[in-house]
Order: sequence, then structure tokens, then C-alpha cells
Amino acid sequence: MNRAAYSETQPMTQNDDTSQPALPRGRLHEFHYRWQWHLKASPETLWPLVADTNRFNRDTGVPALKKQGAPLSNARRQLRLVRLGVAIEWEEEPFEWVRPLRYGVVRHYHSGPVEEMRITTELTPQTDGSTELTYQVWATPRNLFGLVAIPAQVGIISARAFARTFRAYDDIAVSGQSLIDIPGSVDFMPGGRERLITLCDRLLEQGAKPDIINHMRGLIEKGDDLALAKMQPYALADNWGLERRDVLEHHLMATRSGLLEMEWDVLCPSCRGTPMIGKSLGDISSEVHCETCNMDFKVNFERSVELSFHPNPSIRESQKAEFCIAGPQTTPHVVVQQLLPIGAERTVTPELQNGRYRLRTLGLRGGEYVRVASNGISDITLRASKIDGWPEGEVVISGSPTLRFKNSTDEEQLFILERLAWSDHAVTAAEVTVLQMFRDLFASEALRPGQQISVGSLAIVFTDLRGSTRLYNSIGDAPAFGLVMDHFDVLKEAITAEGGAVIKTIGDAVMAVFSRPAPALRAMLRAQAQFTDALGHHPVKLKAGIHYGPCIAVTLNDRLDYFGSTINKASRLEGFSSGEDVVISKDVYDDPEVDGLLHSGAFNAEVFETQIKGFDDQFALYRVSGQAQTQ
Ligand SMILES: [Zn+2]
Repeated sequence: MNRAAYSETQPMTQNDDTSQPALPRGRLHEFHYRWQWHLKASPETLWPLVADTNRFNRDTGVPALKKQGAPLSNARRQLRLVRLGVAIEWEEEPFEWVRPLRYGVVRHYHSGPVEEMRITTELTPQTDGSTELTYQVWATPRNLFGLVAIPAQVGIISARAFARTFRAYDDIAVSGQSLIDIPGSVDFMPGGRERLITLCDRLLEQGAKPDIINHMRGLIEKGDDLALAKMQPYALADNWGLERRDVLEHHLMATRSGLLEMEWDVLCPSCRGTPMIGKSLGDISSEVHCETCNMDFKVNFERSVELSFHPNPSIRESQKAEFCIAGPQTTPHVVVQQLLPIGAERTVTPELQNGRYRLRTLGLRGGEYVRVASNGISDITLRASKIDGWPEGEVVISGSPTLRFKNSTDEEQLFILERLAWSDHAVTAAEVTVLQMFRDLFASEALRPGQQISVGSLAIVFTDLRGSTRLYNSIGDAPAFGLVMDHFDVLKEAITAEGGAVIKTIGDAVMAVFSRPAPALRAMLRAQAQFTDALGHHPVKLKAGIHYGPCIAVTLNDRLDYFGSTINKASRLEGFSSGEDVVISKDVYDDPEVDGLLHSGAFNAEVFETQIKGFDDQFALYRVSGQAQTQ
């Protein structure tokens, strides 16, 4: 059978038999619509499109909505939109879903022709890998106008839009395109297209890479508003088959030149919503309140602050309007969400990828940890109880489990089963603030005075010159000064090439920072080798030490700086360097990537025990020497 022909001729069915339930007393009768489409793609590939209700509502012609006030219990929201001049307000129940099989929502309207509406979407996998998609709407009219409006709007106008949109999503899913590739309807600002061309040309003149600029320009010229509203350099780099750091650095250059704008999103560690958005780091405070979770959290650069980009509004306005705020794809890490009344029990059968998950409810603290692995159990009851709390430890379940949620509390509970891994597409503030290009282009990006934000673990490098006094004495002040300045260039080049940044210079000394220890070590060994080549005949040497550990970001002298005991310890290590070796701490030595480097045969590491000024214990340090590979 020709599958394509089959799916195209499959008619849109409206099953009217089920649309006439018994007439409830005192209420107008409920309309029920049921459509079924045979789609070529699998539920798993359709889900990111079909369950993106914000996109779906926009694509099916629903007007933009506005939130009214803070969330109510269990993430219920008061929402409002204006359709054909009529304001419609409603209370929306939390979406419920089981990825990638079904989702649904209930809306209670305060005004307009409809009193209540329920929507469900089901994706039933077929044996040949395709999907039977069933979309159902139940709508209760409020008044006689509703009796006319529902069949006209839902039964005719929306029905056509649903069919067209699901077919379009199926085509995208089957073609293997990513959301980035989908062309959108483009609205340039007056002069925007010209500005785009001029700025791209200017970037190319400044040495930007043509392939990255072409991709970026193509995206801004043709891309969908939703993709442009939050440009993620790493996701784009993967999509374009280009180097991640390169694409990120081009986003920074494009921002400096006025082509793009930056946005710092502070993510709630619990729901991963964005309770705070900053145009600059100075907008971000170290403690933030999440309305949805009703809790305060400490901001952490490594986890909770993500950098994204969008086109400069003078070129093209990217989508700021919202069409749906709480569908499954607003929190794609949540694989199951279900609202259970007091005492209720519900069975769900999600498809789960291997990895770590947590079951929690909005109303209770903590959660139950779950790991999905092939040898896990396939049938389990997971219970929310105020008295017993969540069980300790971790339960191992299979990838296609039967999960029974049970609400044993005395309140309604919103059950949330979420994947613990964070997207690896995110550019974190911790990563970008250690890039030399970021510090060079956005020198004034700093935290608000007095703010201290944890940045996770960083590799901290301190270097100094050995024998510089003798150098000044032997060749005279001016030439010696020239050589010392050259040394800063050599160092900065080696640091930048490995993705690090110079934080400050103090006399002949340099403090630099890297997000990982191995690039820091490679940079220092290379700088030392180049230094010896250039200045071998002078009695001056480059001493270097590296330590790796948690740091705190602060603003010092209007620049982003770091402090903490990691920095203190790091600053002591170069003192042990002879100038022909790099001294590293055990934390650096134990890093798996450094271990790989040291066992490559090119380097020699020698351990020694010593005391460090300001610290009580004896420390094991390592002296690394050898020739860093040159390209
Ligand atoms: Zn939250």
C-alpha cells in the first residue's frame, strides 16, 4: 500500500455520534468533536511540534493571550484574550500529559460564549512507525450565542486550521527538519533588511567567518519568530554542523555590532521557568522568587542563568506574544504531569529514555528519585504522602513502565515526573563569562555592586615572571618593559585559544580563568614553551600554577571578578613553579580530562608534598613539564 497516498486520502472524520450526550439539567448541552488523522511520523518525532501548544495555537489562528495576576493553586492560571473585539477571560487548569502519547487541558470561562472547554490530543503509535492522532474538543455553551458560535468556530473554522496544521507538522517531522529550519512569516522593521545586510558585511570585514554569518543572516531573513525569540548558539551550531564556541563567539560579535541582543534568563531550579530576565548581568539579583513554585532560590551561574540571543528589534521584532503558556513543551523536561484529587489513583504508561528522573508534586517538598534502566522494574506505585514523606534512595524502573500515581494527602496534588538532566544546548553564564571575547567586547558587563553569585567550579590560573628584576637590570628599563608587554600578548593569545579569559594583571602577574582544568593546563604549557623560545637567552621565566574548585563571582573595580578559597589557593601555586613547569593541585590532577592529557606521553607529572601559606594542611601538588602539542 502506498503510505503517502493512504495518509493523504484519509478523510478528516467528525464523529457526530458522540457529540450528543444526555442533556445535563440546567446546563446547555455539551458539544463534542472528535477528529482523527493518520500521520506518517512517529509520536516521538511529532511530540515537540504537536505538544508545543504555544506554536499550535498561533498556527491555528488563536489570538495572543495575557496572564492575569499570579498563578492560583497547582499552577492554575487566569488568562485573557480578545477575539473579534470580544474579551474572553478564563481560568485554565494545569495541562496534563504523558509524553509522547497524550495531553489535555480544561478551561473554565468567566465571560464569552463558552462556559467550559476540554481538549485532548492522543498520539497512538502504529506498527509501521506512523501515528494515529486523535484530537477531541468538548465545549459547553454559556448562552444561546454559544450554541451558534461553537459549531461555527470549533466545528468549521478551527477544524480546518487543525487539519492543515497537523499535516504541516507531520511534513516537518517526516523531513527530519529541526524547528530552526522552519521558515516563518517575516516582518522586517522599516529599513531592517538593509540594516541586516550592512551589519553582516561589516562583521565579515572585521574577520567574521562567512559560513557562520551566512547561516545567521539566513535565519534572521527567513526564520520562524518562535525560533528567533530565543536563539541558542549551541543548538544552532549543532544544527549547522559548526563548532559551538565559534558560533557563540559570533553571536557575541553580532551583539556588539548591533545585529543581535543578549538576554540573561534566570531559571527556577524546580520548574525551570524564567522568573527573571535580564538585559545585562547587572539586572540579575542573587536571590530570586519563583511565582509558580512559590519559593525563593539562590541564583547560580552554572545552573540557573542561561544566555540567549534575539535579533535587534531595529531589524526584526521577534515573537514576544504568548499564545499558550503552560503546554507540555514549555517544560520539555517534564515527561508526565497529572492532577490528582484527594485519594485518587491514576495509571500512566509513558515511554522514558534511560536516565535519572524525579517525581514531585507542587504541594509537597522534595520528591522521589527514579532511574530508568533496561533492568528496571516495569510496574510500580508511586505515592505522595505528607505523613510518610517521599521514600529515600532511588527506584530503578524500565523504559516502558506502568506507573500508578497515588495521592494519599488531604489535598489535590499536581504530580510531575521530570528528567533531571539539563539541556546541554544552554550557554550558561558561568561558561560565557570566562570567555576572553565576552570580557573584551562587554567589558562593562558586571554584577550589581554587592551581589555574590556562585559560578560552580572553575580552573583558576596565576602566572608571574621569574627573574624580571634581573632582566630590567641587564637590558635596561625600556627594552625590558617591551619584553614584559610582549609576554602579556603571548599569554593572552594562549589563554584565548583554549577558551579562557584574563581576569586581571597585577604587575607582571596574571590571573586567568577557564571553565575546565585541561584547557588551562594546555594553555599554560604552550605559553611557557613559546616564552622559552622567544626569551630563552634572557634570564626570565614564566611561572604558572592552576587550581580547580568552586568560585563566587563578584564585581571588583567595575569588572566581573572572582573570589573564594579556590582563588586564594590558586594564587599560591605559581610560587612553587620553577618557570619550566606548571604546578597543579590535586583537584586539577584528578580531573579525567587532565588525566588523559598527562597519560598521552607528552608530559611528565611529578608529585610533591608541601605547605601552602594561609592553609593548615599539607598539600600534594604536581609539577607538570613537557612540550604541549603545537598545531
Ligand atoms: Zn519554579
